[in-house]
Amino acid sequence: MKPVDSVAGNGRHCLMWLYCGLMLCLMLLFPSGAMLAATASLDFTLHKQGASPSAPTLLIIGGIQGDEPGGFNAASLLVTDYQIDYGNVWVVPNLNFESIVHRSRGVHGDMNRKFLDLAEQDPEYDTVQKIKSIILNKQVDVVLNLHDGSGYYRPRHQDSLHGPHRWGQSLIVDQAELDDARYGNLSETGERVIRRVNQRLLDSEHRYHLKNTHTRKGDREMEKTLTYFAIRNKKAAFGVEASKSLNTEFRAFYHLNVIEAFMQEMGIEFRRDFTLEPAHVKQAIEKELYLAMFNKRLFLDMTNARDWLRYVPMTPRQPMQIEASNPLLAVVGSGRHYKVRYGNRGVANLHPEFMEFDDSLKYIPVLVDDRYKLVRPGEKIMVRNNFMVIPQTEYRVNIIGFVHDGVDDEAGVFVSYENFMPRFSIDRQAKKFRVEVYRGDKFSGMILADFTQQSSVDAGVDLAYYPRQAD
Ligand SMILES: [Zn+2]
Repeated sequence: MKPVDSVAGNGRHCLMWLYCGLMLCLMLLFPSGAMLAATASLDFTLHKQGASPSAPTLLIIGGIQGDEPGGFNAASLLVTDYQIDYGNVWVVPNLNFESIVHRSRGVHGDMNRKFLDLAEQDPEYDTVQKIKSIILNKQVDVVLNLHDGSGYYRPRHQDSLHGPHRWGQSLIVDQAELDDARYGNLSETGERVIRRVNQRLLDSEHRYHLKNTHTRKGDREMEKTLTYFAIRNKKAAFGVEASKSLNTEFRAFYHLNVIEAFMQEMGIEFRRDFTLEPAHVKQAIEKELYLAMFNKRLFLDMTNARDWLRYVPMTPRQPMQIEASNPLLAVVGSGRHYKVRYGNRGVANLHPEFMEFDDSLKYIPVLVDDRYKLVRPGEKIMVRNNFMVIPQTEYRVNIIGFVHDGVDDEAGVFVSYENFMPRFSIDRQAKKFRVEVYRGDKFSGMILADFTQQSSVDAGVDLAYYPRQAD
């Protein structure tokens, strides 16, 4: 998770690491591979951006229903691709993470009906309590709950896809005004936001409208929602709906337009790393994905990864400590098989090889295209011609897919692309390979050798990692 008070930009030359908060650790795994008990929890993460505590704070919640990718991808982009210069934006991009990972509206029912009363036995009780306390935080001024809704909301019936019973392309308020609340003129604020957004439509069909559900007048369903919980507690809150008739990048595009309009209403200043157009939103969603585990000793580039990665070193003796470059990246499973998921999508499957780990390795000295580099485990080297891992006493090197005669230890050997068997790469383009370091039989750590060349990411020494923030 990004440090709370960090206003440092996520420099384009650094890889930003966000701890996914997945403590899949605590698993009792046995080297034998005998059946394993696993407690996998997919807790949501809160990313606090901005460092002006006295300035307005906007809370954005994505993924309350797991099959609405426009909302949770937009929220995730706020974490990875926006910097807040004034004011505060708090983002929960993955509220119902388990349902996101399973591409389900709700694995345990509809979470957005659990905010009025909820039995303590409900499997989502803790999640709901936790997000309630964030909503009630004194600093939060306005809450946006992002959804992808069906069709196109229109105040009057037009046809089956456009009418009052549809939800898409609307901004929802439970009532027009909320007394004694900051930004309590909900309808007025909503109409101003809509005017801004409607200036940026790609097609007139996408026009936004304000929808007032008049929840207080007896809408039993809406009474159970997250936004009405906020309203009952004197917090301005809006439901934001993009249309499910649109592709994900179009939905995220519109969500971001709505969010930016709210930021402008609230005087929150921001920068973003891409142009706000659907094609660039798509690129930003499909950006590089990195996954590190076991204190970064295991490190995988998940961009265009192969379906199956085999013989992945894991240890039963330590927590997995999953860290990821994106808050929607998750590792689920146990024992013989782990799935890597990015939001609703499957990225790869990991087949573990259990072994003992060694903690002693700090750097791996490597000659990359004749330049000497000290590379830390969990980093990537970009190689144009060749590289050589410089021998270190007590350590041996295993370069996966490297073909040569003889010796066990592949330190001290010049390695170029032609020396690899392509099928051992971790990516489908056969450009990225694992360089693993061992001390005796114990796994000490790894780096990746990337022959893509076009990448702007330089050798890993300037990577920045963001450790988990304890809430
Ligand atoms: Zn929804």
